[in-house]
Amino acid sequence: MKAAFYTLGCKVNQYETQIMEQRLKEAGYEIVPPDGFADVYIINSCTVTAESDRKTRQILRRLKAGNPKALAVLSGCFPQSSVERAKTIPEADIIAGTRERADICRLIKEALETGERVVSVSPFDKKEEYEPVRAEGFYGHTRAFVKIEDGCESYCSYCVIPYARGPVRSKLTDAIRDEISGLASNGFKEAVLVGINLSSYGKDCGLTLEDALRAACDTGIERVRLGSLEPNIITPSFIDCVVSLKKVCPHFHLALQSGCDATLHRMNRRYTTGRFREAVLSLREAIPGCAITTDIIVGFPGETDEDFEKSLTFAREMSFSQAHVFPYSKRAGTKAAAMPEQVAKTEKARRSRLMIETCAESRRLFLQSHVGKTIPVLFETASDRVFDGFAPDYAPVKVKTDDDLKGKIKDTIITGCDSDACLGSVN
Ligand code: SF4
Repeated sequence: MKAAFYTLGCKVNQYETQIMEQRLKEAGYEIVPPDGFADVYIINSCTVTAESDRKTRQILRRLKAGNPKALAVLSGCFPQSSVERAKTIPEADIIAGTRERADICRLIKEALETGERVVSVSPFDKKEEYEPVRAEGFYGHTRAFVKIEDGCESYCSYCVIPYARGPVRSKLTDAIRDEISGLASNGFKEAVLVGINLSSYGKDCGLTLEDALRAACDTGIERVRLGSLEPNIITPSFIDCVVSLKKVCPHFHLALQSGCDATLHRMNRRYTTGRFREAVLSLREAIPGCAITTDIIVGFPGETDEDFEKSLTFAREMSFSQAHVFPYSKRAGTKAAAMPEQVAKTEKARRSRLMIETCAESRRLFLQSHVGKTIPVLFETASDRVFDGFAPDYAPVKVKTDDDLKGKIKDTIITGCDSDACLGSVN
């Protein structure tokens, strides 16, 4: 039997697709690319925004139109956060929650044998255990995403993730060391530690993110990168730990969401712009030249023109290496969805444009700052003799060469940059 995966959303979802692929392979399935013919299609869905829901529905419709006899599995955060909404999608033959990944083979077998729709979405248990899984590889990737934490209990007022992912649970440090050692011996050079709320790592078992970092670095892997972090994790002991571990990449993705304290308060974010500034300045002081990237929501309910101006000014002051800008997306069941003063779509678009333009300038300066330097780049993909890779600070680098650089870390002289990457040459 041939199986194909569509993965939407975050790095955790990509890791979980890897785990499901491993399970299906062990069960004798052949994994084929999603645009090819398959007997079973698995959509590992995301539900962070209305747009991700729309994409999930569109993929299912298209798949079934192109291959009506195939089995379509809707799995992941969409059905887990709302099984009733998932059931309204006629193309979904199997509906499985985020807790049912381990059962994927059994659910497919049941649907094939009965010819009936299978729905298996169970609620989280307060004492939910961390699912003991281990990635052996990361098909089609050069950097391996390693999930070490699941769940979130922060309940930011705009976010449905806590409902789709349940309570915080963490992978123990021995398992982290074991998994990353395996990936290193399988040729991976970089491990990216990811979680639903990575900053909550260890909250359930008396460990800290520093413990996880030490375990990850105590392996043959050459680079360890951190996924998205909450600003409050940036403490003197965290910084001391990062500085002491040479394999940790000098790139910190700190989710800001808004540069206005009144908006942060309505978002139920647990820090102020003052605390965020302190985190950024202490990182830049301890690790000169480190990259700070971020996420910013514009058009949150109640965000006035003045509030937005404050957010824009703060983003300019922080001079991010890169910023992902999102227009606020109303999610059913969240506190923010019921808030008054929802911002008009056109106004959200205008604010997105302005925030993107503002952050593009600091991005340009960040790329420019590499010119003339020699930096170790991990090359990942290639087209027409042009290899693309990332520096430790996550600056994208392009090199034109006849040598095969894929999967290699090479010292690269940065000679210039274009609109979205540094350009370089390898000796
Ligand atoms: S920290 Fe907030 S935004 Fe992030 S997953 Fe948790 S609730 Fe959502």
